[in-house]
Amino acid sequence: MTKAKPVVSSVPDLSVIVSMYNEEDSLKSFFTEIQKVLNSLKKYSYEIVCIDDGSTDKTFSLLTQYAKKDERIKVIKFSRNFGKEYGMMAGLKYCRGRAAIPIDVDLQDPPELIERFVEKWEQGYDMVYGIRKDRQSDTFLKRMTAKMFYKIYNLMTRSPIPYNAGDYRLLDRKVINAILSLRENNIFMKGIFGWTGFKSVGIKYTRQKRVAGESKWNYWKLWNFALDGITASTTLPLRIWSYLGTLLAMSGMAYALYIIIRTIIKGIDVPGYASLLVFILVLGGIQMIILGIIGEYIGRIFMEVKNRPLYIVEEKVNIDNE
Ligand code: UDP
Ligand code: MG
Repeated sequence: MTKAKPVVSSVPDLSVIVSMYNEEDSLKSFFTEIQKVLNSLKKYSYEIVCIDDGSTDKTFSLLTQYAKKDERIKVIKFSRNFGKEYGMMAGLKYCRGRAAIPIDVDLQDPPELIERFVEKWEQGYDMVYGIRKDRQSDTFLKRMTAKMFYKIYNLMTRSPIPYNAGDYRLLDRKVINAILSLRENNIFMKGIFGWTGFKSVGIKYTRQKRVAGESKWNYWKLWNFALDGITASTTLPLRIWSYLGTLLAMSGMAYALYIIIRTIIKGIDVPGYASLLVFILVLGGIQMIILGIIGEYIGRIFMEVKNRPLYIVEEKVNIDNE
């Protein structure tokens, strides 16, 4: 047996995890606000794990300046933009806290909430998640589409996502380790949180407007995000077609029987061109949709089989664990 290494630095209580992409304008107010809150929680030590998700602006150089002044600020720089989900995965991997709190840098998630997260954590909850009370800061269309997504997702999967819960939450070490034990590449965080189980509770809050810069989401990205989420969590879209197929085949047979009987009684009649065309078009369309859905899954299987690393780290500052 190898001897355990002596613990060099002590484990912080809380690890705040923040992924950022071109956020030079939001950084200053973020650190001011978050440190105000964290410093007021005197009982708890903390670290702030920042992931620079391939920013092309000054985000990384600003971050290193902060990290030089305060070694509780840790920085991981990705080699390119991988996406927030992967930023959070890296944060979870490199954080050492007894609990982790993923948060957005744009202060849309009010840092004051951390106090209430920690209170619930003390009461024995392993996961405390923020629930957006209203989405007034989002456009009507975004609210509508988000609502539809939650409805469809929850109908199809066995571990539903609480409506309007975001990534802003507190995760106990147990939950962090459960998430880190996953081997998949296509990670849909929102779904994974619920999937891990554990004792959880939600806290309502009002989501604020962005302090600076603008959201990097557009509808095409959101649509693909929704597809990733559903295909990562359920195979229902693949399976429903056999039922529809059975139904169609059965009605086809019934119709055939009807035609046979009618021909025997009334003789052959030629019309039916329009109905024939409709059937061909509808069935052809349905078959293509099914092929498309199978394609969605095969594409993802392909990506999983390649088993690439989730992200590439280019540089680390103040990070001493592997
Ligand atoms: N973000 C990231 N990588 C990306 C896009 C966004 O790390 O490719 C970060 C971003 O800097 C912010 C958080 O994810 O800290 C939320 O992004 P945004 O505000 O654009 O999303 P929204 O609040 O509109 O959902
Ligand atoms: Mg935002």
